[in-house]
Amino acid sequence: MDRARLKIAIQKSGRLHEESVRLLKDCGIEIKNGGNKLKTESDSFPLEIYFLRDDDIPQYVEDAVADIGIVGENVVYEKNKSIEVVEKLGFGKCRLSIAVTRSENYNGVGFLAGKKIATSYPGIVGKFLKDNNVNAEIHEISGSVEIAPGIGLADAIVDLVSSGSTLFANGLKEADTILNSQAVLVKNNGISPAQNTLLQKLLFRIRAVKKAKNNKYVLLNAPNENLKTIISLLPGMKSPTVLPLAEPGWSSVHSVLSENEFWEIIEKLKDAGAQGILVVPIEKMIV
Ligand code: ATP
Ligand code: ZN
Repeated sequence: MDRARLKIAIQKSGRLHEESVRLLKDCGIEIKNGGNKLKTESDSFPLEIYFLRDDDIPQYVEDAVADIGIVGENVVYEKNKSIEVVEKLGFGKCRLSIAVTRSENYNGVGFLAGKKIATSYPGIVGKFLKDNNVNAEIHEISGSVEIAPGIGLADAIVDLVSSGSTLFANGLKEADTILNSQAVLVKNNGISPAQNTLLQKLLFRIRAVKKAKNNKYVLLNAPNENLKTIISLLPGMKSPTVLPLAEPGWSSVHSVLSENEFWEIIEKLKDAGAQGILVVPIEKMIV
């Protein structure tokens, strides 16, 4: 019987390449030296890896040249292919934003009416304008979009932004966000049941890695008289682990805290008399 395999497309080089490879590695999928090769495979999972330009990934996944792919949501929505987004991956975060000259008084989407907009995202921008009932002219350019207003080519641009420093360096300001984007896992609509089983196995690992990244393992020493208060501050997976310390009257408490509530809880724990607080990264988390 033919063993099922999955073909995954990831970016060959660029902003998503390294984190895509690292995610697979954290999932126990070692990739043999990619180098300049178009394709490689893993010894530890029935996976073939294709290295492609990010713009081509939606098409290849739609055509089942690759069964799944890792690509930015911005590219997924721009290409508008018949593929399915299965999981947000938590990296490659950026915004697709409208930017105008710094001196301009942008007062909402209506500002764009009758204006020229330069962008590499004509699909997304066209839909955005239509949804907002605004008529504007879209100028598609493939790179260096941020220089368009300065050379009189456009009144506004729509481009990817993360820190905003490129905009600033070109005398522009971010005026509105059209799309918040991050890397996602996409899949072909017609994968076989056996391939879907592999995909679910991969997704299980991806979720464990993602969850671990968002959580920290916390160990602390607590005076027994404050134990109740301290335990009430800790969410944990179930209840925290409590172990007696060699010193009478003290316990060691172990728990898991999520990144976004982390600092607030640590402060409260200190106020409640916790000492010797250790915070440890978690590698995988299966709940
Ligand atoms: P390719 O050669 O594969 O076509 P590219 O030049 O189109 O590469 P990159 O600049 O490597 O693409 O960006 C790949 C993806 O990284 C973007 O589509 C986007 O999803 C994400 N990204 C994250 N932050 C940013 C940012 N500040 N600017 C641009 N893209 C970003
Ligand atoms: Zn690209």
